[in-house]
Amino acid sequence: MKDVSPPPVLELHWVSHAYRSGPRPIPALARVHVQVAAGEFVCIVGPSGSGKTTLLRIAGGLLRPETGQVLLDGEPLTGPHPAIGFVFQRTNLMPWRTVLDNVLLPLELQGPIGPPEREKALHLLETVGLAEFADAYPAQLSGGMAQRVALVRTLIRDPEVLLLDEPFGALDALTRERLNLELLALHARYRPTVLMVTHSIEEAVLLADRVWVLGGQPGRMVAQVPVDLPRPRNVAVVAQKSFGQLALRIRELLGLVQEAPRRGVGHPPGGR
Ligand code: ADP
Ligand code: MG
Repeated sequence: MKDVSPPPVLELHWVSHAYRSGPRPIPALARVHVQVAAGEFVCIVGPSGSGKTTLLRIAGGLLRPETGQVLLDGEPLTGPHPAIGFVFQRTNLMPWRTVLDNVLLPLELQGPIGPPEREKALHLLETVGLAEFADAYPAQLSGGMAQRVALVRTLIRDPEVLLLDEPFGALDALTRERLNLELLALHARYRPTVLMVTHSIEEAVLLADRVWVLGGQPGRMVAQVPVDLPRPRNVAVVAQKSFGQLALRIRELLGLVQEAPRRGVGHPPGGR
């Protein structure tokens, strides 16, 4: 059969890394070999310390892997790249700049700002419901609003690849759910390739085309779980049987599922 899958945008070739700043090396990531297709949404889950952030920083050119190679559109990635955008849990908005000026900052670093740039920023703010807050300052925003601004600040440069490290990790559950739905809509509209680290298995299944499960220290790829739920997705998918089965499968891969004790086994003598 002819292979019609699009060429990968991002490739990690047998990437390993250890941190060597301290007295002894700390192995963080071992022999990760993966590809991400254009427009694909990948979520990364794994216990604390399993190398998720290390993997993301390497994929974004912020950290050179000790061994192995990263390719972006087939070319070796050797440092930060304008086609790659990051969003972290901490928004790092500049408190003395308005929302609009925070969003425009990445463009300011590239050249002069004119009406087209402002219009683009306002349009993006509108897509996340923040047009009215363009002249507000970060201190006037809720956590969810600040995270939306951070997302828009990254999207303004039309990144081909979007790398998100637990972007909604500090938000309350309802805000987080709403932002997940907005992220689904933004992905459907602009089709960036996304790698997103999350602690929430349900969030991963809701958003992703594929979930990478990392484990161990150094972190290894335990499994890649395809999420074959149809798109466009909305919140109703969480009620589907296949959604629950996928979430359970990922919990099993993370070692979170224990067999229920069988009747009559393991009870103390005299117990029921
Ligand atoms: P995760 O994001 O999955 O929690 P990390 O990628 O942050 O995992 O960390 C993987 C391992 O590397 C951990 O053991 C962590 O302590 C270590 N580590 C992470 N960053 C550094 C650093 N800058 N210097 C030294 N060790 C680090
Ligand atoms: Mg991390």
